[in-house]
Amino acid sequence: MRLVTSPAEIKEITKTYRLGGLTVGLVPTMGWFHDGHLSLMRMAREKADKLIVSLFVNPIQFGPNEDLDSYPYDLERDRRLAKGEGVDILFAPERQAMYPEDFGSTVSVAELTAHLCGRTRPGHFDGVTTVVAKLFNLTLPHFAVFGEKDFQQLAVIRKMVRDLDFPVEIVGHPIVREKSGLAMSSRNTYLKESEMDAALSLSRGIQKARKFVSERSAEVIHAAQVRNLVHKVISPHRECEIDYINVVNNTTLEDCDEITENSLLVLAVKINNRIRLIDNSILKGS
Ligand code: AMP
Repeated sequence: MRLVTSPAEIKEITKTYRLGGLTVGLVPTMGWFHDGHLSLMRMAREKADKLIVSLFVNPIQFGPNEDLDSYPYDLERDRRLAKGEGVDILFAPERQAMYPEDFGSTVSVAELTAHLCGRTRPGHFDGVTTVVAKLFNLTLPHFAVFGEKDFQQLAVIRKMVRDLDFPVEIVGHPIVREKSGLAMSSRNTYLKESEMDAALSLSRGIQKARKFVSERSAEVIHAAQVRNLVHKVISPHRECEIDYINVVNNTTLEDCDEITENSLLVLAVKINNRIRLIDNSILKGS
């Protein structure tokens, strides 16, 4: 596995891959790999002749009071883990190389970014789409894999690709969870033992909601019933500040009134005002 830090060098390499008729896969990440990241790499490895993983803690997707400065980072650790998954190139550019002083362009997707995480994190998705557009241009992938844990990010990137005709197939990967049910996240490393029960209330809420829906398959179920039920699971934990508990259409992300096969339960909760956790699940079926 090669470690590449220079954008000019990665461009040269991917040009050669393309000219050689090789299928290029990309997995964009911010590092501090866990099994969620590694599963995305495994999925991409199956489809790609050449697999590129990017590791870049993208400063422009963090708000002023967010965790950019404390975001976990260990290049040597991640290098070892990526190598173990058969990654061909780990692309880990410096901030200055991605955003030189005169950088002045933004890729922005309207509407889809206005609610849910976009409401609490203004500018976040512009940062995501801008860096992903840059990564696509630098690595020229045939396909790129993104996790369904970041459901809104996945929807926004699919929209960007459609709107701007990027010749990249976007592949979604199911959420990878700890045995406890907690959705894996680099940010879980911030959780103290005493905060674990509160953190687990998200996946417990999801499990309860799915059970509630599966036991009423012949009935009309309203989103409000599901939201109330999940609220009752999460809100007793005083560490939890609920950002949103919503039921949305899994493609448009618009609120649902009644539960259907396309209804996605989406949650964002801040633990002790420090750690923002998100989770989601389809409510009917697997
Ligand atoms: P991040 O490094 O957190 O920006 O994540 C990089 C990619 O891994 C994104 O596409 C995430 O959606 C995905 N990802 C992170 N955690 C998980 C998880 N628990 N299950 C599936 N995908 C994940």
